[in-house]
Amino acid sequence: MNHQKNSWIAVPQHSDFPLQNIPFGIIQYQNDTPHPATRIGDTVIDLFYLAEYGYFDSLDIKNLSPFSAPVLNDFIALGKQTTNAVREYLMKLFAEDNDYLKNDEKTKAMALIPVEEVELLLPLNIGDYTDFYSSIEHATNVGKMFRDPENALLPNWRHLPVGYHGRSSSIVVSGAEIHRPKGQLKPADSDQPVFGPSRRLDFELEMAFVTGKETKLGESVPVDQAEEYIFGMVVFNDLSARDIQKWEYVPLGPFLSKNFGSVISPWIVTLEALEAFRTASPKQDPEVLPYLSVSGEKNFDINLEVALQPENSEETLICRSNFKYMYWNMNQQLAHQTVNGCNIRVGDLYASGTISGSERDSFGSMLELSWGGKNPITLNDESTRIFLEDGDTVTMRAFCEKDNLRIGFGESVVKILPAV
Ligand code: CA
Repeated sequence: MNHQKNSWIAVPQHSDFPLQNIPFGIIQYQNDTPHPATRIGDTVIDLFYLAEYGYFDSLDIKNLSPFSAPVLNDFIALGKQTTNAVREYLMKLFAEDNDYLKNDEKTKAMALIPVEEVELLLPLNIGDYTDFYSSIEHATNVGKMFRDPENALLPNWRHLPVGYHGRSSSIVVSGAEIHRPKGQLKPADSDQPVFGPSRRLDFELEMAFVTGKETKLGESVPVDQAEEYIFGMVVFNDLSARDIQKWEYVPLGPFLSKNFGSVISPWIVTLEALEAFRTASPKQDPEVLPYLSVSGEKNFDINLEVALQPENSEETLICRSNFKYMYWNMNQQLAHQTVNGCNIRVGDLYASGTISGSERDSFGSMLELSWGGKNPITLNDESTRIFLEDGDTVTMRAFCEKDNLRIGFGESVVKILPAV
């Protein structure tokens, strides 16, 4: 059994945030301005005050202004060499055998805050947002329901990571309340569309990665260098209105059915923190074109869960999936996104697409869990659902576990309010 180093900050059992995680986020404490922060156990650490009191001086960071910025973009733009050095320094500073900050009551009083006393803000100014469609189980399930059960995957699907450009303005942080969207729907028994609240409101269980390095227009990211451009990952709930989607999506894809709210977890977990959880991707058949060809373990074993909680009731775990099921990995997604010269920027978000496994309880959307509304699911309080109802709260969780080490992402939580 592997014994991990502990922190002098208490870390509850099964916490997502041991000393080995050191994710990055943005906190707001009382009337102070928002600051970059990390988290160990249930304690957040305000990096602005560590910078202010000279704790990063030994790292030779020429510009400390990113530590007072209200989003992480400038910090991430310092580059992996610097952000990794900060993360590794923090792991040493908070290790149980290090007294340096532990004995500095003045800095501790400013920098260490219980997580329940801070507000966790959207950590990024998200420039662009891409949504892929990279789970073969999900694409097959949706293809069966929306098109042809015999030819569920379109001919391009196994040759390229299908994706579309989404809308970054409506990405919000965990804890959001989103009103049921209205739009054009075409009921099956009508040949004309109607306007009204979506009747098939859904979640999509996804992970998203954040780019940490920009390219110029005309440049491409080679698939074997893609990880240099990936800063870290979050949990991503891509809310979707299936009835609006079904009517609008041909020929250019989803539009209003997916841009009314997507919800991310507040802490960005770095790729480096996930290193111990690398795993092989599913075998790709047919072989991909050379610009998409990767070797080595490019996927990650990340457990995913979705819980649904009706208003004034208990939550029910309705889905258990895993990021390792992804047919297309992040390297391939980024190489494909840029192969035509499309430039990327620091703080862009690239979502995986709904992550479904092969078993029914691993399906990452209500559309699949209820099989298009045909098989209602029963919750712990005996109520049933085919899609989301007003007052429902959807909580997504993601965590890796191996050899006594748990690295987690925390939660993406959203409550559905009635249409306005
Ligand atoms: Ca999606």
